[in-house]
Amino acid sequence: MTFHVITIFPDIFNSYLNESIIGRAIKNKLVSINFYNPRDFIKPARRGGAQKDNGYRSVDDKPYGGGPGMVMRAEPMLKAIEKAVSKVKGKKFKIILFSPSGKKFETAYAKQTVKKYTDIILISGRYEGIDARVQKIFKAEEISIGDYVLTGGELPAMVLIDSISRQIKGVLGKYESLEEERISSSEVYTRPEVLKYKNKNYIVPKVLLSGNHVKIEEWRRGQNKI
Ligand code: SAH
Repeated sequence: MTFHVITIFPDIFNSYLNESIIGRAIKNKLVSINFYNPRDFIKPARRGGAQKDNGYRSVDDKPYGGGPGMVMRAEPMLKAIEKAVSKVKGKKFKIILFSPSGKKFETAYAKQTVKKYTDIILISGRYEGIDARVQKIFKAEEISIGDYVLTGGELPAMVLIDSISRQIKGVLGKYESLEEERISSSEVYTRPEVLKYKNKNYIVPKVLLSGNHVKIEEWRRGQNKI
């Protein structure tokens, strides 16, 4: 799976995605991530350019209709997306645009995505969001990761990359540890068997020490919250 991320802050991604399971998946070429920065598609400053150039060179501008905050301009966004689209020609790809009022992201969506596509273009907004014409032009699917407003679409992009990558065969250490199995053990324990904390003993549920796999499975399903 190749992710193509449109963002003005690509550096945000490095430390998270280069560690642990996703880092290994990238090394093993199961996952790759490309970045396209709308800032790179803005006309360079005119030599000796005066103050009046600034609006044009910026990725954001004032909202029509007034109000606080800034809106990400369409043109640099469109150019960055076009560049990503040129890389996925002939491939099975999907374009996602992050928005707090989009369709709610969930595991079922991640599973479907892995089955249907080889390339995903993820558009991360900032400020008050992206000029709405960008979504209309590319018919991007609007996705939300939850009912709260974040300062940008970079965390949502990482959430999708992480969740979708887990569904790719070979990314997790053992295929069995995929969500449908692992989810049933939302409550997990490791040594010691008896944990002492402030004069109190905290024990591991007996069933997990029983060696009875049918019972253990049953108990785990009982913990299943999703
Ligand atoms: N004014 C907008 C909020 C913009 S938040 C509104 O009221 O809807 C700035 C950017 O952060 C958005 O463009 C989007 O890319 C991202 N974002 C914020 N919260 C998000 C969420 N819950 N899910 C997905 N993306 C989110």
